[in-house]
Amino acid sequence: MEQNKKDIKNTVDKTNKNGIINIAIDGPAGSGKSTISRAVAKKMGIIYVDTGALYRTVALKLLAKKVKIENDSVEEILKTTKVELKFVKGEQKVFLDGTDVTDKIRTPDVSMTASSSSALPNVRKYLLNMQQSIAKENSVVMDGRDIGTVVLPNADIKIFLTASAECRAKRRWLELTQKGQNVTYEEVLKDQKERDYNDSHRKIAPLKPCEDSVIIDTTELSLEQSVEHLYNVIQNKLNK
Ligand code: C5P
Repeated sequence: MEQNKKDIKNTVDKTNKNGIINIAIDGPAGSGKSTISRAVAKKMGIIYVDTGALYRTVALKLLAKKVKIENDSVEEILKTTKVELKFVKGEQKVFLDGTDVTDKIRTPDVSMTASSSSALPNVRKYLLNMQQSIAKENSVVMDGRDIGTVVLPNADIKIFLTASAECRAKRRWLELTQKGQNVTYEEVLKDQKERDYNDSHRKIAPLKPCEDSVIIDTTELSLEQSVEHLYNVIQNKLNK
């Protein structure tokens, strides 16, 4: 841990933005982004921001309002919607209209609605500023689909995490069933393929690596190996 702190201090001293480090991590559903990013952020002693949670929170509201997923209807709902991101003991919590919904946004219904509503320009515009402000004021590991391309185009490091479709579906299936959700592997794989397609084919901010992204495939790596690898890639790049 001491060593890590020293690494970070050296790194911070080398950055030119009041010591703020922005690390952008993008990748498809189930690539291990959240788990790996959270662990790397912890190792570095900086904040982890899961932007997917913001899109999920908007989706939760749209589901509750049973609104059609198209720009005008959604715009009306967003006018009276408050999404907030707070950090409690370093852990991200998301609030919808004042209520903590962190645990409510992890269902297959919310995943699918987030995937379709996130293609709407109004939804992306609504959440952009919040993400950029957090990264302007804090050192962050921020993960999502368009962090390197749109949200933080000047990030110190951009990483594109991926893994085979089957491996990603298996990981997501295990995660959901461990939480007690009743889904089959086939259902998870089907939903994931649909989300991958939506995310990478939408007109605005599609999921894709940047020209300057470091691409990391975690299919053959354990969680610990992935975290170690990412951490080393980050340190090497920051110390250059
Ligand atoms: O990362 P997660 O699977 O929780 O994200 C849920 C959905 O939110 C994704 O399928 C994607 O459509 C959308 N999303 C996005 N841009 C981000 C993060 C998530 O479009 N930066």
